[in-house]
Amino acid sequence: MEKKEFKAESRRLLDMMINSIYTHKEIFLREVISNASDAIDKLYFKSLTDTSVGMNKDDFVINICADKQARTLTVSDNGIGMSAQELEDNLGTIANSGSLAFKSDNELGEDVDIIGQFGVGFYSTFMVAKEVTVVTKAYGSDKAYRWVSDGVDGYTIEECEKDSVGTDVIIALKDDTDDEKYSEYLESFRIQSLIKKYSDYIRFPIKMDVEHPKYVEGKDEPDIEIENETLNSMTPIWKKNKSELTDEDYNRFYIDKFSDYTPPLCHIHSKTEGTATYDALLYIPARAPFDYYSKDYEKGLQLYSSGVMIMDKCSDLLPDHFSFVKGLVDSEDLSLNISREMLQHDRQLKIIAKNIEKSIKNELTRMLKNDREKYEKFFDAFGLQFKFGIYQSYGTAADAVKDLLLFQSSFDPDKKVTLAEYVSRMKEGQDCIYYCCGESRAKIEMLPVIEKIRDKGYEVLYFTQDIDEFSMKVLMMYDGKPFRSVNDGAIDLDTEEEKEEAKKTAEENKDMFEFMKQSLDGKVFEVRISNKLKSHPVCLSSVGQVSIEMEKVLNAMPQNEDNKVSAEKSLELNASHPIFARLRELYDTDKDKLAAYTKLLYSQALLIEGLTVENPVEFADLICDLMV
Ligand code: ADP
Repeated sequence: MEKKEFKAESRRLLDMMINSIYTHKEIFLREVISNASDAIDKLYFKSLTDTSVGMNKDDFVINICADKQARTLTVSDNGIGMSAQELEDNLGTIANSGSLAFKSDNELGEDVDIIGQFGVGFYSTFMVAKEVTVVTKAYGSDKAYRWVSDGVDGYTIEECEKDSVGTDVIIALKDDTDDEKYSEYLESFRIQSLIKKYSDYIRFPIKMDVEHPKYVEGKDEPDIEIENETLNSMTPIWKKNKSELTDEDYNRFYIDKFSDYTPPLCHIHSKTEGTATYDALLYIPARAPFDYYSKDYEKGLQLYSSGVMIMDKCSDLLPDHFSFVKGLVDSEDLSLNISREMLQHDRQLKIIAKNIEKSIKNELTRMLKNDREKYEKFFDAFGLQFKFGIYQSYGTAADAVKDLLLFQSSFDPDKKVTLAEYVSRMKEGQDCIYYCCGESRAKIEMLPVIEKIRDKGYEVLYFTQDIDEFSMKVLMMYDGKPFRSVNDGAIDLDTEEEKEEAKKTAEENKDMFEFMKQSLDGKVFEVRISNKLKSHPVCLSSVGQVSIEMEKVLNAMPQNEDNKVSAEKSLELNASHPIFARLRELYDTDKDKLAAYTKLLYSQALLIEGLTVENPVEFADLICDLMV
């Protein structure tokens, strides 16, 4: 029989996982049982709408069988099963759902993190198995197949016999070593405790033959009685009372259910009655999944109708700005065979979604208030999504998230600030919220325009993410205060006296500025006296809708290749800088030189803003002229 190889990435991951020292090996059982339960869920759901399935809820069961002689542990389910193609697709590649977009090899250092990012459930069996056999028959098919693999070389698939629909996963345990006793997974007490720990909530019975020693008088050795027992309580965690549950219980359920190996930052468990009756269990993850900021990421909550899962990712339950939330909603108000299209218009679902949005917002607001450190951790992972949310919703998401935003600011290098904090500290007479765009705090603080505004005692928000300025333009204002870039041509920092003075200087130099503008050949809208500069000679400012930062961001996008945008720029000069006096002098004595200096100053200003010089050769030549 031909042996097929695992896909290259799968092998790499397999290797990592099998040799991972971080992961608790015992979780393999949880993974296999989860899969069995999902498979049963699928067939059960079908049986509710299609009588030809011929099964009742009570017929579904997961059986565990430990064979000490053969050293095998078998988990069987009578769920939906897999066709040959599905076997190939589901078990031939790891993380079938998303490509293994490893960013770089050195990121592979942290085994546990990488494993956590993929739904690698089934493959965890190879942490304890030397060989895994999957025998399965899909619902509606009369053929069964056997998949066998040692997890290293590849796998085989062949047709085989199986009476009933469903799947057996047969795990042949590795040999015991001094450090690892794999045979422990054949002991009933160990299996029982693992099921209690990880799979208690599974809604279908998990059954096993359990050995009970019975001491009989007059006999030294007890008789062994075997009883077929159900090992799990079958009550879903969200149906239990909060008081019965510990954080540990909640976290375990999360890790099991939502393929994230890092415990969540917090959970929200609510039971609601009234206009809509439902239970919700929501989690805020601690880390963004690897594909979170890509179009592959699918938001949504699991949707149950009276305990039966009807949809895995119901996107209508979560607004985009809270798309990172994981969890489930169980409502008796929803009909079992409701379609996706019908759901979208369902009034109950809309009410539930509104409530859920509110409770997520409240929880985050509480966290921001009471546990700033935790909130900042959260914001580092998902804050970007709030800004996308505001931008993409044209501002309708703003009310939900504007108070949850954090920015770096000039106020304190070690602390991020909320907009409310910024506004509460605004100086008397300050009528807008100042911001400055740049790659990083360090780069922003080097910008000439920052110096004076900070000197005047104004706090400046540092917009270090591309989306920042775009989304704040959509938001327009906070608490009635408009956002204003420190690069904005219309910014007004001076006192009345200074303004008077500047007006005078501008008037006196009108002709020179016009000459300078001409020598820049239409590249700037005007040359003017700056009110933003303290010790630097020049800067650029922009007028109109497109700022200099937006020009950079938009032009960096690949689709804008033939369609470059350009901010309308002013070249601003510092009238108290010695360079200014020199320009004045040249205007009267050597206009050619003034034209050359103007180009130099303009190029410098471009470089300071992080833009490229349009003609680098000319720029270099001009500098050389100065040097010789
Ligand atoms: P995940 O469960 O996260 O999707 P797994 O690697 O655990 O990842 O499983 C891969 C896929 O194999 C599952 O999504 C499912 O389609 C299929 N599968 C695994 N176990 C079973 C089973 N017992 N019955 C039917 N299908 C299964």
